[in-house]
Order: sequence, then C-alpha cells, then structure tokens
Amino acid sequence: MTESVLARLLIVGPQGSGKGTQGARIAEALGIPAISTGDVFRANIAGGTELGLQVKAIIDAGDLVSDELTGAVVRDRLAQPDAANGFLLDGYPRNIAQVRDLDEFLAPRGEGLSAVIELDVPRDESIARLHQRAVDQGRADDTEEVIANRLAIYERETAPILDVYRARGIVDAVDGIGALDEVTERILGALAARSISV
Ligand code: ADP
Repeated sequence: MTESVLARLLIVGPQGSGKGTQGARIAEALGIPAISTGDVFRANIAGGTELGLQVKAIIDAGDLVSDELTGAVVRDRLAQPDAANGFLLDGYPRNIAQVRDLDEFLAPRGEGLSAVIELDVPRDESIARLHQRAVDQGRADDTEEVIANRLAIYERETAPILDVYRARGIVDAVDGIGALDEVTERILGALAARSISV
C-alpha cells in the first residue's frame, strides 16, 4: 500500500468558479480545515473588528488587501492546532509575492503544498454565476463594476501563480462545469491519484 500524503491543499479558480463551495466540500471530506481569506475578512467586517474596518473599503472595491495584512491572517490561522494535519487554502496565495511568503512560512516547518486544484470554468459561465450570486446573496463586491475589477486582477495577478506551482508538478486541473457532486468527485479523484485521501 502506498503511504498517504498529508493534504496541504490550495484551490484556485476565477471568481464564480465555485472554489469556495468546492473547497469547503473537499475539506469536509478529508477532515481538514478550509481556510478562506475572503471568509475571514467578511466575518471581520460583519463583526466590526479592527481588521474588518481596515479592509472593508478595499474589498468593496474588489481590490486586493495588502500582502502583509493577508499574510499575517493566514500565518495566524495555519499556526492553530487543527491545521497541523492538513489544510485547504482558498483565496491565498493570490499573487506571486504571496506564493513566496507562504513558501517562507511553510519551508521551515518542513511543509509544502501537496496539491493545487485548478478549477476550470469558462469566463462567460463564471460571470453568469456571479450575477446569480449577486441576486441570491447580495454580496457588496458582486456588482458589475467590481466583478470586472476582480476578474481582471485574477487574470493579471492570480493566474500566474499556477505557472509556479505547475513547475513543481503539483497542479491538477479539474473541469468545474457540472453538478456540484460531480465536480467534488473529480477533485477527490485527482487527489486520490496523488495518494491524498481520507
Ligand atoms: P472572490 O474569489 O470571489 O473574489 P474571495 O472571498 O476569495 O472572493 O475574496 C474576497 C475579497 O477578499 C477579494 O476581492 C480581496 O479584496 C480580499 N482577499 C481575499 N483573499 C485575498 C488575498 N490572498 N490577498 C489579498 N486580498 C484578498
């Protein structure tokens, strides 16, 4: 039997690809915490914390929060005991500088990402889903103009991180079109092929 590999995962995909939903499902299936920087920021905004006040205007405009602040939030979360046996990152790293910051944090702990899931969804489909989410959830950053800004930042800053991880041979591209369960199964299948399983 092959030894199983610890699940230190990252899910990457454009806004509207379903990465938040799939990330939560995969984390649940593997029994590891899903760490979504967007969720952490939104919870802080809702709770009116100092951090929330600092990031609200930036997030409402669809811009990126500073690497320093985001990095501090993630390091703090990853240092908690429940992340010791694996974790799934959603929304971090989101640019090349954050990839380096994460490497610097994980390397001394003898850790590294074991797989990066690239959720593929065509642009038209992700835009359609974001419009639907705007109707359903009324997220402040789901307006037409802000969506366009977030997608542009994704293409310019986030998509290039996949090249870095591809060079490490850890990227699994998964088709994000289909029923929720189907997509989850595809991702779990790709992870199982790397001996990452429950
Ligand atoms: P989406 O992927 O739909 O943009 P997220 O929930 O991942 O939604 O993120 C919401 C917002 O939170 C982003 O638009 C950005 O302002 C901020 N944010 C989340 N993650 C990061 C990050 N790694 N670096 C900087 N800002 C971030």
